[in-house]
Amino acid sequence: MSRKDPAVNDWVRPEIRALSPYRVADARGLIKLDAMENPYTWPEELRQAWLERLRGAEVNRYPDPGAPMLKRRLRENMSIPAAAEIILGNGSDELIQMAAMTLAGPERVLLSVEPGFVMYRMIAAFTGMRYQAVALNPKDFSLDLSALLGAIERYRPALVFLAYPNNPTGNLFPESALLEVIDAAPGLVVVDEAYAPFTDASFMPRAGEFGNLLVMRTLSKMGLAGLRLGLLAGPPAWTSEIEKTRLPYNINTLTQLSAEFALSHPEIFQEQARLLRQSREALFQRLAGLSGVTAFPSEANFILLRLAEGRAKPVHASLLSAGVLVKILHGSHPLLRDCLRVTLGTPEENQAFLDALTAALG
Ligand code: PMP
Repeated sequence: MSRKDPAVNDWVRPEIRALSPYRVADARGLIKLDAMENPYTWPEELRQAWLERLRGAEVNRYPDPGAPMLKRRLRENMSIPAAAEIILGNGSDELIQMAAMTLAGPERVLLSVEPGFVMYRMIAAFTGMRYQAVALNPKDFSLDLSALLGAIERYRPALVFLAYPNNPTGNLFPESALLEVIDAAPGLVVVDEAYAPFTDASFMPRAGEFGNLLVMRTLSKMGLAGLRLGLLAGPPAWTSEIEKTRLPYNINTLTQLSAEFALSHPEIFQEQARLLRQSREALFQRLAGLSGVTAFPSEANFILLRLAEGRAKPVHASLLSAGVLVKILHGSHPLLRDCLRVTLGTPEENQAFLDALTAALG
């Protein structure tokens, strides 16, 4: 075993040393309900047509750097207004990083709410920004608007990220509250609509309307997590600056072709999202009927649960031994004590989860 080179501590920035890597659980052989993926696959003839499309891919060449065809499809599919320009990212994670790189500087603040999406905090550390979080209301994870507006006044954030609906809580903050935030923020506000396929609410129709609003989307949750494709839409004055931080060929050829192909069959994904929304209501009702479980209403493709005190770890372990992988959130944030998060699967997978949960609760 080699000893750690003392220069590591001298040179690696303290905020990076303080981080833990983003951990992904090993899901082999398990019913995978931990990562907000879409459980449905494509009909066989569509798979064949897709593979046929990929046959022509010229992987000896660099990808098209601008991906205009793909952008056109995205614009159509997501009804992105003409006033908004688009930037593509290798997943929306990369777009969070690009926005932060563009605005980072000593003492520049990235502000969000907690419990929230962990990459906002991590990327603030990567890019040397100061991270500030405003706590959600402990009872129902609703937005504490006066605290948020107070923090905007106090910290003058360069960047505000709000997930709409929020992860990991699943709720949707009021539109009027977000409008107040957009109005009060001195810098850029990114409304992160990763879970847009599972709610009717969206700021996309208004992308380009506010000088400081960007709307972020991803194809991950609708069923294309493996492709890694996200987008930011908003006023060209902002997007043209952020675009400069994009690595030249960040969207690879196979992703461009596959996403274009998939988006030319939107009805498949709309139907899958409809089924997931339906099963969300069914699963919520069943969970609400279990004693020792509090389920929080969700507008996303997952449900946050709180168990009785001290039960999250043993129940998580018991679900695992029954072959079901969910996310344990206990220990990740004080407001997520005793919490688990379950992603919606197929009706059969949801039933397997419910059976295992009922058994675990004893
Ligand atoms: N934003 C939110 C709120 C998320 O929950 C996630 C995924 N967990 C992402 C962004 C990142 O998605 P991706 O990088 O797959 O586009």
